[in-house]
This record gives sequence, structure tokens and C-alpha cells, in this order.
Amino acid sequence: VRYADGKGWYDARVEARAPISIDPASAVLHYAQEIFEGLKAYKMADGGVAMFRPDANAARFAQSAQRMAMPQLSQAAFLQSLREIIRIDQDWIPQNDEGSLYLRPFAYASEVFLGVRPALEYLYLVIASPVGAYFSGGVKPVSVWVTPDFTRAAPGGTGAAKCGGNYAAGLSAQAEAIENGCDQVVYLDAVERKYVDELGGMNVFFVQADGNLLTPPLTGTILPGITRDSVIKLAERAGRRVEERPVSIDEWREGAASGQIREAFACGTAAVITPIGTVKSPEGSFTVADGGSGSVTMAIRKELVDIQRGRAADPFGWVHRVL
Ligand code: PMP
Repeated sequence: VRYADGKGWYDARVEARAPISIDPASAVLHYAQEIFEGLKAYKMADGGVAMFRPDANAARFAQSAQRMAMPQLSQAAFLQSLREIIRIDQDWIPQNDEGSLYLRPFAYASEVFLGVRPALEYLYLVIASPVGAYFSGGVKPVSVWVTPDFTRAAPGGTGAAKCGGNYAAGLSAQAEAIENGCDQVVYLDAVERKYVDELGGMNVFFVQADGNLLTPPLTGTILPGITRDSVIKLAERAGRRVEERPVSIDEWREGAASGQIREAFACGTAAVITPIGTVKSPEGSFTVADGGSGSVTMAIRKELVDIQRGRAADPFGWVHRVL
């Protein structure tokens, strides 16, 4: 779908995936005015096809658009674009109960000009691609690198928006994590360089000795994850208290040593929930849940995946059936 100032969104179409030509002076190439979402369509236990909380992706896309000075696409149009692409691509949805059709809606500034101001023309697209199980051969704990050098987002910045620029800014940190033998980077807050914000592409939770959960608050510098929100609601329904408050890296390290923090996990659309095993930083390494997969983490993971796949009741009406 195209957008032009004064005209609104127009020219909606479905085409076979192919390269798009882009003018060298397109605003997005210079000033990174771009936003995106990521979600999955998948087979349910009864053979139907569903998406998980696509309305939440629509709402976050709208918030990202606002932060990046981009025009609003109606949430109804966003959802319709997803339903349409699923219907057309339904033969590409993996039949097994772990794979899915990954959906990537995104919008970017297509106006051709060199100047720093919000563009007047945009393109909104959705690509769909089948993906297999995130973990082949069972869930494995990830190792994380606490980057001493890089921050992901500062107060007043774009941390709460899902924009490409955030990820570009994080690539050096991710490279640093890989050089240090870790799967993912952990970002600390930009002001005090002390509190855990989130991982490169996931939010983080801690399981305390009493079984209650702890997670960094949405202060505007971390992405408001849909999986994060789902975990909070499920945990509270199961009678666990969820504290949203700053957690310092020292509290994590000391809590892991004393047993006060029994487990840690990361969550996001791609992996759903991933136990965190080893935490590495320039000050040294420590492990959580003895480096393995904690029982509370795995129980919450199962509960969430079972709701998604229609193997358990859906008390919050999260599963949107498409076919
Ligand atoms: N934080 C970041 C930086 C992410 O890229 C993602 C993935 N979208 C998340 C958290 C998790 O968000 P969600 O649960 O909505 O996938």
C-alpha cells in the first residue's frame, strides 16, 4: 500500500515477492524512517490457522508510527493485510506444531529528497516466510553478554518503538556478544549503566526464590513486548506476583549466587520463552538455574505455547483464528 500526503493510503495490492526498486535519494536510506512488526500465523491443534494477539501488534505499530513521525495506517487495515496474506499463502504454513508462517509488516519513507524532515510519501508492505521450530531438538538455555560499551536506548529516544534504527545501533553490541561466545546481548540502562533493560531482541524476566516474577518496567527505553505482556497476565492469573521494577546487574549476579533469583528467562515472538543459562560480562561470568532450564520458566513456556496452539483454553481471547 502506498501513502502520499494529502491523498492518504492508496494502491493496495498483492504481488509475488520480488525486488522493489528504490531511488538512491529515498528518505529511508539516509534517515532510517522505518518501522516494523513481527508475528506468526500457525496451525492450531484442530487444523485451523491462527495469529496470536495481532491486535497488539497493530497497536504497537501505530505507536511506532507516531514516534517516528509517520502516517497512521488504521489498525483494521493492518489486520486485514495480515489476514489477506495468510489466506493467499496458506499452503506455506508449516503443518507441524512448531513451525509457522512468519509475518513481517513494515513501512518506510519512500519520498525522494535529501533533507531532514518527516517524509510525505511512504510504502507499507507485508512479507511472509515459513519458519521452522526456533529450537530444534528441545529448548536450550541461551548465553548472554552484558555489554559494557553500548546502550540500546536513552530516555527520550526511540527505545519503545519498533524501528530499524534501534537494531542498526545494536549491531556492534551483538557482534561483541558473538565475539565473547554468547548468543545474545543484554543492554543496561543508558543513564546509570546499572539496570537491566532488555536483550537484543527479547524482554527479560527473573524468577525469585518464592516463585514470583520480576521484570524491568516499561519506562520508554525498552520495547513493550507482546510476549512480555502475555507472561505477566498468565503469571498473575496463576497467582504469581509480578513486580515491574528496575533490576540492577548486581542484583541479578548476587541473587543468582544467593538463590534469591532462581531462574531468568527472555521472551519474544520468535522463541516465545528462552531460559537464560550463562551471563557473561567483563567482570566475569555467572550462571542462573545452574545454567539449565528452570522449572517455572518451562511451565510458563508450556502454558503460553499450549494457548497459542489451541491445546489449552484461551482465557484472554488472544488467539485470532484466520482460517
Ligand atoms: N525487545 C526487542 C528489542 C525486540 O526486538 C523484541 C521482538 N519484537 C522483543 C523485545 C519482544 O517483543 P515481542 O514479544 O512483541 O516479540
